[in-house]
Amino acid sequence: MKKYLFVLSALVIGCKSASVPDAGTISESTSTASEIQSTVSSKVKEVTRAAKVGEIITFLSSDELSGREAGSEGINAAATYIEEIFKKNGLKPYFKTYRDTLSTFDQPAFNIVGMVEGNDPGLKNEYIVVGAHYDHIGNGKPEDGDEIANGANDNASGTTAVIEMAKYFGKNKTNKRSLLFVLFSAEEKGLLGSKHLAAKLKKEDFNLYTMVNFEMIGVPMQRETLTYITGFKESNMAEKMNAYAGKDVVGFLPKAVEYQLFKRSDNYPFYNEFKVPSQTVCTFDFENYPYYHHVDDESSELDFVHMAKVINEMIPVLEKMTNTPEKEIKMNAK
Ligand SMILES: [Zn+2]
Repeated sequence: MKKYLFVLSALVIGCKSASVPDAGTISESTSTASEIQSTVSSKVKEVTRAAKVGEIITFLSSDELSGREAGSEGINAAATYIEEIFKKNGLKPYFKTYRDTLSTFDQPAFNIVGMVEGNDPGLKNEYIVVGAHYDHIGNGKPEDGDEIANGANDNASGTTAVIEMAKYFGKNKTNKRSLLFVLFSAEEKGLLGSKHLAAKLKKEDFNLYTMVNFEMIGVPMQRETLTYITGFKESNMAEKMNAYAGKDVVGFLPKAVEYQLFKRSDNYPFYNEFKVPSQTVCTFDFENYPYYHHVDDESSELDFVHMAKVINEMIPVLEKMTNTPEKEIKMNAK
């Protein structure tokens, strides 16, 4: 990092000390320096976040957690780890504790639910749920003596994104609407954690604006867009996210429609209960990762800088989503 900063200050000093040029040259060199500055600063942020991402995901997908099957001891270690991070970073439990025990599963399993209350008295009763499932399948088909399905991309990667975003909003509290950060259990058993929580919140008249879910963001797509969103045509969420980012960060993947991905992750129970925009951001495009539900889905196969990029682009998008005076994200008419 020091090296980057040194190069940057050398460039800035270089521009300042140039002999007196005409006005055109001045504005040209100033804009070049500021462009370089912004590129360097976003690269520095990526490298810094990539290190944090690596640390979190390496723990979540370690053999110690035995593939994080819902109801197992391994997933409990992940839960305790997430709770500690929430506590340390100013997130409050939405219920009595961070643990929300599933009513939909025959073994003891729980979602982790942390909240950052909105800072605007008029908007804080409106909620955005930011989620990812933190469970995986436990053991997989053994390969070379390895039988632990570590679930690094699926879905320690989404879990890590939610943790990093929770840390940001917990510390900075820049959100007018309230944010609920949820790590779901038993997604792999049939979306049981999200089915349970969506129904429970619906019963208490929870004022849900949108639900944004993260799944398999561990490797870049083999195409131009940074991410795609499931249920692209259901709402104007992608269009608004791109407007909030000031560039295209969310795209459309035809395969997501073919495989009905909109209905295959934890966003769907929220759509079902509330009929509001509830969608999943993903970078698994069916061609970029051969280890889906495979024992080799390990952190060593992932691209932490890519993940950092996704998280860094999504934080300001979420921030703007929480702060618009009106609800701008809407379901499309059918
Ligand atoms: Zn998954």
